[in-house]
Amino acid sequence: MSRIVYVNGDYVPEEEAKISIFDRGFLFADGVYEVTSVLDGKLIDFDGHAKRLERSLNELDMAAPVTMEELLAIHRELMAQNDLTEGMIYLQVTRGSDGDRDFPYPDASKVPSSLVLFTQSKKIADSPAAKVGMKVISVEDIRWGRRDIKTVQLLYPCMGKMAAKAAGCDDAWMVEDGTVTEGTSNNAYIVKDGTIITRHLSNDILHGITRRAVLAFAREAQMQVEERAFTIEEAQAADEAFVTSASTFVMPVVEIDGAQLGDGTPGPVAKRLREIYLAESLKAAL
Ligand code: PMP
Repeated sequence: MSRIVYVNGDYVPEEEAKISIFDRGFLFADGVYEVTSVLDGKLIDFDGHAKRLERSLNELDMAAPVTMEELLAIHRELMAQNDLTEGMIYLQVTRGSDGDRDFPYPDASKVPSSLVLFTQSKKIADSPAAKVGMKVISVEDIRWGRRDIKTVQLLYPCMGKMAAKAAGCDDAWMVEDGTVTEGTSNNAYIVKDGTIITRHLSNDILHGITRRAVLAFAREAQMQVEERAFTIEEAQAADEAFVTSASTFVMPVVEIDGAQLGDGTPGPVAKRLREIYLAESLKAAL
């Protein structure tokens, strides 16, 4: 069934949506994005995603195409037009098109940024993958140095997922200078002796909206949290591991580079955090 998508002010059937071939998102990956999950017809942590979008835009001197209030209204309208009760809303802002290909940024007062949104209907709360957990491999992290900006340059994460698939696994954890940065599209965690360990925030990783919420819930539940780098060897020797992202919430990891964690099934900390996250974030959903 065709979706109704949003393109620069219009709600149109997906077949009719058009963006210029000169759009800088297409030519230069000059764009940023957000993915907000939808549960029970409500947006999970919309504020967090809107704030990170503003930050990404500011870091790249890109103009916001609409206000954050308008953005919320567009999300709601798309949910209504597509009867979306569970899944995700993808949003992308690019620096638009000045009708040609040239490296310097065009004048933002003359060339408006482009805004595109579409829905993805998917069962995300009752996920079969969360019951068995994921197998991950490690790959070298060769991405650019501003991973804190959520840009659409995602070819290397795509390559990581392909390498994982070829190895019969579900995802890849990226390693730089001997320590894990993050998953291809998620933040990475290990649990040892009850302590949750995840890399500290810096330009090396995306500041996950789910990460922030999950760590806050963990601390509220009196769990120990350490924000520091860890190696693959330390992860393989951990009691359990998991990843977080807006579309997977808390997803257990049961194998890292062929080494099984614990008994090879999702660990209790990941299971508990998934339950807490789902319950608490739904309470605050918009
Ligand atoms: N790291 C990377 C590289 C990602 O692509 C994502 C998801 N887009 C995340 C972490 C998780 O971020 P969030 O919890 O905001 O979805």
